[in-house]
Amino acid sequence: MKVILFGPPGVGKGTQGLWLQERYGWPVLSTGDMLRGAVEEGTELGLRVKPLMDGGQLVSDEIVLGIIEERLGREDCRDGFVLDGFPRSVGQAEGLERILEAGGGSGGSDCLIVLEAGEEVLKGRIRFRSEETGGARSDDTDEVMRERLEVYARHTLPVLDFYEKRGTDIKRVECGGSVESIAEEICTWLDKKKGVG
Ligand code: ADP
Repeated sequence: MKVILFGPPGVGKGTQGLWLQERYGWPVLSTGDMLRGAVEEGTELGLRVKPLMDGGQLVSDEIVLGIIEERLGREDCRDGFVLDGFPRSVGQAEGLERILEAGGGSGGSDCLIVLEAGEEVLKGRIRFRSEETGGARSDDTDEVMRERLEVYARHTLPVLDFYEKRGTDIKRVECGGSVESIAEEICTWLDKKKGVG
């Protein structure tokens, strides 16, 4: 199954992605992790994207689509995958669906799981992560978090419209509760969908 994990910064996409990986064996493709990897390695790409990431701005569609296309072409993605933090703009969503359709396989993305939580919950979680990790992520500050939320509302939310119009299966999950209860809700829905499909 080709699953898109969708939702604002701090909602817990990464955590839920790991549950899905464990349960179904699908690799989790996080563009944020891939880009942070490039920054840590100090590659040319890393140097280019670092200022954008530090400011909470989006990296260009072209760069992100290039990374994702290469990754989706690998063997471990053949039976399914979970996308975390991608697509984050309508341009990326269009590009993704083009790549998947050109790849032969069985067409485009199968579903979108939308993780939702109020802004105060999101800010609280980012503050908590920043304290826990000793500020490991340079974008986990109150100021950059405000910007990330604005960028999400402006550029990323329209991706939902794009998939609604396409008729893609969408599951909304309220993420105020425990990690386990959220994972349970997602897996119950996916099991049902797998059974039907
Ligand atoms: P979060 O969802 O908590 O904001 P991510 O790790 O997904 O964290 O993203 C961190 C940063 O990496 C983003 O603010 C952005 O600068 C960059 N980034 C990650 N994924 C994308 C993407 N699909 N398109 C553009 N920029 C991205």
